Amino acid sequence: MEMTEIIFIGTGGGRINLLKQFRGTGGFRINSKGANVHVDPGPGALIGSLRFKQDPLKLDALIVTHAHIDHCNDAGLIIEAISRHTLKKRGIVIASRYALEGGEKGDRTITIYHQGKVAEVYAAKIGERKKFKTERGWFEIEIIEAKHDIEDAFGFKLFIDGTTIGYTGDTEYYRGMDQKYRGCDYLIANCLKPQHDEYPGHMTSNDVAVLMKGAKPKMGIMTHMGMSLLRAGPKKEAAMISKKSGIDVVAAYDGMKVGEGLEKYM
Ligand SMILES: [Zn+2]
Repeated sequence: MEMTEIIFIGTGGGRINLLKQFRGTGGFRINSKGANVHVDPGPGALIGSLRFKQDPLKLDALIVTHAHIDHCNDAGLIIEAISRHTLKKRGIVIASRYALEGGEKGDRTITIYHQGKVAEVYAAKIGERKKFKTERGWFEIEIIEAKHDIEDAFGFKLFIDGTTIGYTGDTEYYRGMDQKYRGCDYLIANCLKPQHDEYPGHMTSNDVAVLMKGAKPKMGIMTHMGMSLLRAGPKKEAAMISKKSGIDVVAAYDGMKVGEGLEKYM
């Protein structure tokens, strides 16, 4: 029986949405027997977690796929929770090298102070697969290339308690990307734009359809949706993606849970 669930804390993307907060920008959370993981804690990750009854103190790991503010703004807060108010050095941070170490001028987004509060910090390396032990079990992550307008951005496949969760992070579609995301139970795709509204460094719903068709997850989920996509209608776009790809794809909404009994979201 499947025990892993995914909770979407914030499903909005793009610069307009970021400051208007029509949709939240807190990323999502994975709860499983082996670990609870928060992914891409943009603004509202802490408040959204509390709103949706996801206790941040029960997290074991944090993943930050790149250093844009809508993916890492609340990283320090999440680390304060993982480390139990900074009193216990515990937990895992997996983040882009740029987020951890900064570029040439050292402009890092996760402070050295906070990095020192967890037990393990891993700077993600494209193509690497790495296993992490938690207090309750373990998970494994495979780091997948992303093409985005900031250094060291990545996507991943997470292997946890028999479930494989893929997440593209922010990226444009590139040749061969679908092959890299093969074998997922859930494939979460950041879909900023509706079809025919191409934008460098991001995917449109057309791109997501191509990705889903090639990657063939059991279920596809679109999130990180920008204003034009929200206006076009996420449900409509998801239906188009499902039809084109032959995969069941849903548009996430703030507070949406998938896991057991996910049929009700179809
Ligand atoms: Zn970004």
